Amino acid sequence: MTTLRLHNSLTRRIEDFVPEDPRRVTLYVCGPTVYNYVHIGNARPYVVFGLLARLLRRLYPGVVYARNITDVDDKINAAALAAGVPIDRITDRFAAAFFDDMAALGVDPPDVTPHATQHIRQIIAMCERLIATGHAYAAEGHVLFDVASYPNYGELSGRSVDEMIAGSRVEVAPYKKNPADFVLWKPSTPELPGWDSPWGRGRPGWHIECSAMAETHLGETIDIHAGGNDLMFPHHENEIAQSTCAHGGRMFARYWLHNGMLTFNGKKMSKSIGNVMLLHELLQKHPPELLRYLLLKAHYRQPLDWSDTTIAQARATLDGWYGALRDLGDVDAVGSETSPEVDAVLLDDLNTPEALAVVARIASASRQAAPGDRKAAKAALLGAGAALGLLKVDPETWFKQGLSRPAEGTTPAPGAAAIKPDEIDALIEQRNAARKSRNFAEADRIRDELAAKNIAIEDSAQGTRWKVVNPNERAA
Ligand code: AMP
Ligand code: ZN
Repeated sequence: MTTLRLHNSLTRRIEDFVPEDPRRVTLYVCGPTVYNYVHIGNARPYVVFGLLARLLRRLYPGVVYARNITDVDDKINAAALAAGVPIDRITDRFAAAFFDDMAALGVDPPDVTPHATQHIRQIIAMCERLIATGHAYAAEGHVLFDVASYPNYGELSGRSVDEMIAGSRVEVAPYKKNPADFVLWKPSTPELPGWDSPWGRGRPGWHIECSAMAETHLGETIDIHAGGNDLMFPHHENEIAQSTCAHGGRMFARYWLHNGMLTFNGKKMSKSIGNVMLLHELLQKHPPELLRYLLLKAHYRQPLDWSDTTIAQARATLDGWYGALRDLGDVDAVGSETSPEVDAVLLDDLNTPEALAVVARIASASRQAAPGDRKAAKAALLGAGAALGLLKVDPETWFKQGLSRPAEGTTPAPGAAAIKPDEIDALIEQRNAARKSRNFAEADRIRDELAAKNIAIEDSAQGTRWKVVNPNERAA
């Protein structure tokens, strides 16, 4: 299969992806609102759609991927007021933390990272165009989108306006013609951030920011728009209404992709529920590839439950793959960055669980490889891993991360093994000597001594090996 097939939320079907212009394929992903650290659920769309961007780059000569930063928002304003600082102190700090977290997870930076506050002129212009064409109206310092002016409203979520109002917290306000009308611009009091506009000093609503940024960087019609399925209504529905009406009825996004929610104990992980696990804290406890693996383990449209059991399973799987690479340590293979087998399944609506199964098959085949095939087997395994952003670490580093003096560039896990590699090697030598002289009690004692320091040993054809057992990833 060479055609990319994607599930389009707009048609609720899996379709062949045909870009409008293969020389400039456009992708927009709604970025984070930066008033806090992102949680592991927030990382899901960026990992999955980042992988899509990579795949698009392999398929087409030109791709423009935009992922915005929402840096003006009522939650940001509240955080800034509470801290007594201007909003950019909050947004600069957490945007930087977001970029660091994404880099750690192996998410490639997009081509453009538009910030909402740098697009106020375009936002105001879009509001003016919508007013001029009868799709929006100004009232009491606000600009509102007139939902009744757009008969296709609700097309994406497949719900009627009444159902949508009933199912969400629609603000009823005296200045609205219709309760479903939503804010494009709102007035700011002196202590709130604001910009001068034809309607007085104010600030944009959230939805219009994405419409204006997508228009500025990608054009009127974009190929793919993606984000979490929690954004389908109202955010994406409103983006469609604004952009379509501002562009004389031209289609806004041709394919809509939505990821399912990451859950924790079955409940959506969300800042408002308070059941969040912050990515930057998880990155201190686990290797980034383990988190990345877990985010790719479920198909992106399915829910994904985060639990200690899946973390332990992920560790066992990755240890197995790194073990295969370590066993191939004597052959020199230039790891390719791609894999035809992995690409073939990613083309099928980003089937990452199957792609991971392909890596598992390649890893187990590599263990059986005949001497003459080991070089090719290693290259295939490295390529399959790299296609998913995995197996990028040297195997020795992988197994030794978590030591209190870890390899350069890795962080020790809390409860890291308080022992140095040469001490471990010395104990293993003593254990092997004990075994040779059939002193099994002493050999077991040494094994237990190492286990107490979170070091597991394994006897293999290549000799005795050891690895750090991360206490955060132990099977329950
Ligand atoms: P926000 O900063 O809340 O706008 O969220 C940023 C991105 O994370 C959006 O694409 C959301 O749809 C997505 N998102 C939020 N919570 C989750 C979750 N629990 N699982 C998966 N994606 C999520
Ligand atoms: Zn958006």
